[in-house]
Amino acid sequence: MEALPSLPNNLARLNALELAQKYDCPLYVYDSAIMKRQYRRITDAFRVKKLKINYACKALTNQAVLNIFRELGTGLDTVSIQEVLLVFLFFVSAKYEIYTPNCVSIEEINRAVAAGVRINIDNISILEQFGHLHPTVPVCIRINPHIYAGGSSKISVGHIDSKFGISVHQMPHVQRVVEAMGLRVEGLHMHTGSDILAAGVFLQGAEILFNSAREIQDLEYIDFGSCFKEPIKENDIATDIEELGEKLSQRFNEFCQNYGRELTLIFEPGKFLVSEAGAFLTRVNVVKQTTSTVFAGIDSGLNHLIRPMFYDAYHRIINISNPQGKPRIYTVVGYICETDTFGVNRKIPEVREGDVLAFLNAGAYCFSMASNYNSRFRPAEVLIHEGQDYLIRRRENLEDLLQNQVELPIFNSVNV
Ligand SMILES: *Cc1c(COP(=O)(O)O)cnc(C)c1O
Repeated sequence: MEALPSLPNNLARLNALELAQKYDCPLYVYDSAIMKRQYRRITDAFRVKKLKINYACKALTNQAVLNIFRELGTGLDTVSIQEVLLVFLFFVSAKYEIYTPNCVSIEEINRAVAAGVRINIDNISILEQFGHLHPTVPVCIRINPHIYAGGSSKISVGHIDSKFGISVHQMPHVQRVVEAMGLRVEGLHMHTGSDILAAGVFLQGAEILFNSAREIQDLEYIDFGSCFKEPIKENDIATDIEELGEKLSQRFNEFCQNYGRELTLIFEPGKFLVSEAGAFLTRVNVVKQTTSTVFAGIDSGLNHLIRPMFYDAYHRIINISNPQGKPRIYTVVGYICETDTFGVNRKIPEVREGDVLAFLNAGAYCFSMASNYNSRFRPAEVLIHEGQDYLIRRRENLEDLLQNQVELPIFNSVNV
């Protein structure tokens, strides 16, 4: 099939229309070549002796995707005991798997210790309990540097009102606990959210971390979380990863020299590695003209892609069935009985019923946040890998919806 004109490269590469016909809509499609390219962009940008990229797997946890990252040589960043257990199914070594929970019970942390992953601690109460229970297990401390990274307040996590991390101003308290318990701090961590706008803000956060690191003996790594912003709209700004790489590598190497030890520089991107690799393909059920608006109603909703309704995320929407059509203005909505608007007043080549609309940047936090709301089935997922398309999750069916429900004998059977 001939490449579709006026489409972003990744969609043309995916032969998206063909896939929509073959696997039906709604459908998530991922391209492993883009995941790989994004991984290389990071590893090329940072010039330090020891660099480790941990894929933040909550972005997209399909096992095929975990396998791709294992083959590329990443570690994993996990945020729940269930993700930790996934690590052991698909990753060979736990050495660089970091567990970064927030507000979980000490019992869950105990299970992660038993599993052998690295533990990142984000509050002093847990640090004290941890010290009593596991005095010989090294820890990482998640610091809140109190920088506002920019972007959506709902996903920014490094500012002063955030529930994440231990305030950098509480580090003396952390030190007292660590010394009293005889704990070893092997890592320092910050994660400000990937919506960070300027390399300068990020470097400021890095300096704060270096300052704290100077006070700690026997560090092995510094983990800068995820800090790479990708362009989503036309003309969007992106993190200049080459510039950031150059500046941070230089500061990091200087720090290691002064510290007297070669530390590992860790990043844990989710979105950067998988967002652009994914597209969500949907079919237009209805084109509905009201007195004020033309709605394009598609065969999906906030049950499958909640980001626009949840935190005003923007996804480009493209008509892949009619790329040369005359552009008109549409509000694209879902079929859920609840307001579920994907985009307002979008200029899209003329949309006809039956056309396939593609949502771009649908690799991260899209399928992984999907639900069965309205008793709808979750979509299928397809992976394009080395020129082949593979079904990596089948579409759900009615049995899937009933699977965990318990039938009570006190009620008459439905069929009497
Ligand atoms: C979610 C998360 C990430 C990944 O964030 P992205 O914005 O997807 O890059 C990294 N680290 C931690 C601790 C997280 O919770």
